Amino acid sequence: MTDNRERLRRFVLNASRWSGVARMAGSHLSGLGAILMLHSVTAVPRAGLGLNDHLSVTPDFLDRAIADMKRAGFSFISLDEMVEHLATGRRCKLATITLDDAYLDNFTEALPVFESHDTPFAIFVAPGLIDGTVQAWWEVVEQLVMMRDEVALPPTVEGAPFVSSSPAEKLVAARHLCELMTARVPETMRQAVLDEMGGRQVDTSAFMSWDDIAAVSRHALGTIGAHTIHHHNLARLDEELALIEMRGSADVIADMIGIRPRHFAYPYGHAQAVGDREIRLAGEAGFVSAVTTRHGTLHPEHREHLHALPRISLNGRYQDIGHLRTMLTGFTTFANSRRRVVTL
Ligand SMILES: [Zn+2]
Repeated sequence: MTDNRERLRRFVLNASRWSGVARMAGSHLSGLGAILMLHSVTAVPRAGLGLNDHLSVTPDFLDRAIADMKRAGFSFISLDEMVEHLATGRRCKLATITLDDAYLDNFTEALPVFESHDTPFAIFVAPGLIDGTVQAWWEVVEQLVMMRDEVALPPTVEGAPFVSSSPAEKLVAARHLCELMTARVPETMRQAVLDEMGGRQVDTSAFMSWDDIAAVSRHALGTIGAHTIHHHNLARLDEELALIEMRGSADVIADMIGIRPRHFAYPYGHAQAVGDREIRLAGEAGFVSAVTTRHGTLHPEHREHLHALPRISLNGRYQDIGHLRTMLTGFTTFANSRRRVVTL
């Protein structure tokens, strides 16, 4: 997220709290509830430039967030139940917790929180991250820049090396590399490029094992969803490969744990990663629902858009219960997008 967008978002969150506008928005904007989005959940701070701070919250914040939502009258239900509920159109305060990428800490640090609150949760798994076929490139880029005073590009990618000796240079270099990885390097080439850059030598977050994933799928509170095979941006793939990535991730997970995922999360989930084509493909791949990373609460209209469900991010940069309360009113969606019902 750019600094400007982040400043705007912080302003909207704060302004609405001061003015009480969010409270007055009432159920018109808050709708049926929300699907929460998390990634890593850990008490261990990670050394870095802060580029990925939005992807990690502490178990303590998760615990306080759930407790506060329960006090406010939210009931936590599974993704299957949420999809069923959407069909009824009834207005209740309902929430579903989802976590993308299957970080190991979801199993070791978040699961005890879910168990203590008896809250269902769903974890979206990309088999390539579990097998190590692909790395979490967003962390690799950050770590390469942290470790080196200059980051050279491999011959397959044209461009001068990035100087990264001072903290300011490291930040600029990391942003350029992120842009390169998401816009210039083809999705299917990204890991080969990282390998050429020495990406296998850096430390990245650990992901759950297949045994952990199978244990979650058998857990009374757990659901396993699919997240493509290689964590690719589907909008950058041709249609055939996009469908293989979607359907194939469910196939691999079904093979490994014996249960076929019914729900899907689009990697990245933003406007440059999910469009009408991907929504159609999610249905063709057999998923009953698919979530984006678009910011929004759920409304009765979403029963017609089960493959474009927005979420509310528990963003590591805003570990503030007040911000969460404001987002759950739906006010921030309305203020940011001028829309009550967010699909694409
Ligand atoms: Zn992801």
